[in-house]
Amino acid sequence: LSNIKSVKKKVFKQIDERKEELVRLGSKIISMPTENPPGDTTELGKFLKDYIESKGLSANIYEPKKSMVNVVSSLKRENAQPHLILNHHMDHFPAGERSSWSFPPYCGDVVDGKIRGKGATDMKGGLTASLFAYTILGNFDEEMTGNLTIMFVPDEESAGPWGTRWLLDNVPEVRGSAVLNGEPSGIDNLAIGQKACFFIRLRTLGAAFHGSTSAWTMKDNAIAKMSSLIPIIQMLTRLTGEAPQELREVMATQKEWFRSSDQQGGADSLERVTINFGKIKGGTSALPNVVPEMCELDVDIRVPIGLTSRDVARVLQSEIAKVDRNVEYEVTQEIDPNWTSPNEKIVKLTVANVEEVTGKKPQLEISLWGSELPYFRVRGIPGVCYGPSPVPMGMSNEYVKIDELVTVAKVHAGTALDYVMGN
Ligand SMILES: [Zn+2]
Repeated sequence: LSNIKSVKKKVFKQIDERKEELVRLGSKIISMPTENPPGDTTELGKFLKDYIESKGLSANIYEPKKSMVNVVSSLKRENAQPHLILNHHMDHFPAGERSSWSFPPYCGDVVDGKIRGKGATDMKGGLTASLFAYTILGNFDEEMTGNLTIMFVPDEESAGPWGTRWLLDNVPEVRGSAVLNGEPSGIDNLAIGQKACFFIRLRTLGAAFHGSTSAWTMKDNAIAKMSSLIPIIQMLTRLTGEAPQELREVMATQKEWFRSSDQQGGADSLERVTINFGKIKGGTSALPNVVPEMCELDVDIRVPIGLTSRDVARVLQSEIAKVDRNVEYEVTQEIDPNWTSPNEKIVKLTVANVEEVTGKKPQLEISLWGSELPYFRVRGIPGVCYGPSPVPMGMSNEYVKIDELVTVAKVHAGTALDYVMGN
């Protein structure tokens, strides 16, 4: 145990002393766009492999589909146990309109203690901190009985199959005994679970007529039919879930935390279904003079713990059937709510390391958004997310605070050491 302490002390010291290098690494990574779509990670993947190799460690590239580049590196070659996985995605949402940014989205510059640029929060900040921690731990691999693997994946923002899922199916090296992910949880929080991402597409059908005949053909107008479904879909937000015993205290405390930090919206969303009407399309004519034959609506439904996507689908389908029996219904993504027990070793060790590094016990939380941990959890691999502040995630003028990068690097390094050196 005293050996773990002394190694940890040396590792933390290196992180502090090499902070400039951490910042330069973050700037460089943020300056390499990996917008998804299209989600091309060729350049960044190559850079990460080269960086790891420049530290005397080995790394492999896997490209299951053109431009969908994954990078995997482990400190031990043999099947050493316990085996912690550090999992991070390289892609991010598009920067959008340049005019909504007050600086170039891929400048990666350093201003007021922040590295600025698209993807800084979600999740190149957490990725950089964890990578930095990993390469420093590479200097101490002889102290470890267990194994440590880091994986960088594409195709996360699109919930596609060519990143984490492909690696878990095809590369045994990433199937560890626990996983730590650097998604933005906020440095005072530790995400141990998440709501479901349930995406559906509804399609209403009409019949193409001349628009002037709408007085007697309105019932065949696909857009009008879809409009009448919107209030029905909105009613799903009345559905709430009942959390299992082991999460009740966590969720009650989290609700209080949301309220006390002025995030009533978070408190309201935690235990109930939320809806986003993400995209609608209908009609084919350039002019509005044809009754539309078809209308499609894409809906993002977030399902709380205690309900399943199937429960919500059942309610929705039966309510829709009451008004229109001919609505086509397609599930485009279905990940049920999922979590890791607060009693798991990886949770306890991360909590202890956050407390050691920040001086504060973290708030355990159920995340309102997704991560790739469900793909591990369905294989029985427990995991948590610990990364920098989630604000301003997905917005323009994104940045990550340098102090938070240092904190995340120490927490990932400290947790990894406790996990692979302890018993
Ligand atoms: Zn993310």
